[in-house]
Amino acid sequence: MATDAAGAAGLASARASDELRGSTLGADPEPRDRVLASRDDRRATIDRHRGRGRTLVVLSLAVPGPKSAPPGAGALFAWAAREVGRAFPGAKRLDLRVDALGPFALWSTRVWPDAAKARCVALEASQPAARLVDLDVYSPGGEAVDRASLLLQPRPCLCCGEPARDCLLEGAHPLDELTARARELLAGLDA
Ligand SMILES: [Zn+2]
Repeated sequence: MATDAAGAAGLASARASDELRGSTLGADPEPRDRVLASRDDRRATIDRHRGRGRTLVVLSLAVPGPKSAPPGAGALFAWAAREVGRAFPGAKRLDLRVDALGPFALWSTRVWPDAAKARCVALEASQPAARLVDLDVYSPGGEAVDRASLLLQPRPCLCCGEPARDCLLEGAHPLDELTARARELLAGLDA
């Protein structure tokens, strides 16, 4: 059962990866209206699935820079999707797509939300490139489960290790620095 689920997740992630490799997606900056439309679509998809009695795990990439899927992003996403399959045996994949923001997938699981968030945080910290992976968790009632509610440290900044939110609010790092750091992390991906 667990093996089947992991296999299915692996297949799905391989397909997403092929799709990324085979397309020119991410070759140029995405037009702003397409980015905004994709953000709305993702939000609508999450809203459609959350609060239906299962914990929801949402996977996306948070790669700074003008390209939605720079080199290495497909491999990183495929790795992360595989790891989600392993961390959540029996999870049901509800969506998998590549849009103007990059690849995106979502699963429902019976795992208790706090435990699910802890597994996701561990996954995000499991290798340097995983810092570019974003895993969001929603409780069966539809509430977002954040790090603070589990008394976990906030996510560290890619560049300096301070809380990422502070650096973002302060504009602590120019986009060039963040983009270069992301490229460095992707180059060192242990997929
Ligand atoms: Zn920083």
